[in-house]
Amino acid sequence: MKPFSYAAPKTYPEAAALLHDHPLALPKAGGTDLLDLLKEGVLETDEIVGLGQVPFEKGNPNSLPAGMTLAMLSDAELRKRFPALAEAAEEAATPQVRNQGTLGGNLCQLPRCAYLRTRHACLRLGDDTCAAAAPGALTRFHGVFPASGCLSAHSSSLAPALIVLDAKLRIQGPKGTRELAIEDLYRSPESGAIGDTVLGYDELITRVDLLPSALASSSTYLEVRERQSFDFALVNLAVAATFTGGKKLVVKEVRLAAGGIAPTPRRLRRAEAALRGKPLTTETLAAAGAAAVAGAQPTPHNGHKLVLLNRLIARGLARLAEQGGDK
Ligand SMILES: Cc1cc2nc3c(=O)[nH]c(=O)nc-3n(C[C@H](O)[C@H](O)[C@H](O)COP(=O)(O)OP(=O)(O)OC[C@H]3O[C@@H](n4cnc5c(N)ncnc54)[C@H](O)[C@@H]3O)c2cc1C
Repeated sequence: MKPFSYAAPKTYPEAAALLHDHPLALPKAGGTDLLDLLKEGVLETDEIVGLGQVPFEKGNPNSLPAGMTLAMLSDAELRKRFPALAEAAEEAATPQVRNQGTLGGNLCQLPRCAYLRTRHACLRLGDDTCAAAAPGALTRFHGVFPASGCLSAHSSSLAPALIVLDAKLRIQGPKGTRELAIEDLYRSPESGAIGDTVLGYDELITRVDLLPSALASSSTYLEVRERQSFDFALVNLAVAATFTGGKKLVVKEVRLAAGGIAPTPRRLRRAEAALRGKPLTTETLAAAGAAAVAGAQPTPHNGHKLVLLNRLIARGLARLAEQGGDK
């Protein structure tokens, strides 16, 4: 790793001003992703702006400081109002990473493309070709909905959960603050731009605001991974759904978002439309599953992700239906 200087601002405005004045500087929260990328030479900087000294503003329990660790997010009170978020935080990574990694850093982590992370040819890094698209490349973990030629798979477990919970992010820039819907945080990969977010180089996520509702409290998170520990999801899915009816449940409202299938988290709107107002039957689930994978372009190695996504949709709705009815 190359030498760098370290600044430890005490407030977000101060941190944003430091980033603004020093365009090569990078913000660091828990450092669990950033330090790996610096060590591997994927990212370079001569100044780190550490966010660890910025104190948490307490108060509204539905407004979560970006510096909360994943371990803090699996709190019992949050679980009652926003189960999908608490479950996603609990499933992610390892106890060590959950105690160090933060909400803000998790949302801004780079995707797990083995080629990007070992500095092979990558469109995001400004190269003309993508090593993952080369004949014979190993793409078992890559996405099935490539975008802008990028085959990477989004890896934040929290992002799909926050999408179904309709979270709003508070962003601090050098000139003030703005609000951003979580779905608007991500953009398609761009040649030469390594990240996936619309944030400026001098902008930081400071808080994540949530609104308790019947839909939010009837939410859940599921993932499938190859190993039970120390691994990222092959596919993950957050589901929020309410139902009407007694024995024959009908889907009243539903939101679905998945990770591990495209460079950015993917809201499954066509699958939602196939479910809304429909009885929760095998046929309805098959229609939703077909809508979720329509247009997918799997590689020869990762067609299993389409099957997994279908299964997670059925499993997630079944889990909520068991708890639900007449909501
Ligand atoms: C073995 C292992 C397994 C893992 N498994 C999972 C998993 O299953 N699911 C999952 O979601 N993640 C997983 N991770 C990733 C881990 O959760 C993330 O590395 C962590 O959440 C990032 O948080 P951090 O605070 O350490 O971020 P950092 O490493 O400090 O930062 C990550 C990125 O975000 C930027 N950043 C940090 N804070 C802010 C902010 N407030 N505003 C704007 N930008 C910011 C940084 O500049 C950097 O680009 C795993 C990691 C490891 C090592």
